[in-house]
Amino acid sequence: MKCSEFLHELTNYLDGVLDDTTKVELENHLSWCHNCYVVCDTTKKTIEIYRDSQLYELPENLRTRLRSAIMAKCQQYKKRGPESV
Ligand SMILES: [Zn+2]
Repeated sequence: MKCSEFLHELTNYLDGVLDDTTKVELENHLSWCHNCYVVCDTTKKTIEIYRDSQLYELPENLRTRLRSAIMAKCQQYKKRGPESV
């Protein structure tokens, strides 16, 4: 699995709506890719804070904002070179 694929599935993963196979692939990716681990961890904490304060489903606009922030970060990493960290 590539970072772009990981990031594409990240919000589904955090929502717990993935099938087991994809989930395992994501967890495998996390075990070796520090970039995605950090992104996942940060996103998870952001969502938890949001959920704790609102107790509602993550609204679509926040989800979209998170995803574009994540994709922007992914682009930054790509510019620095493949898996350089
Ligand atoms: Zn990655």
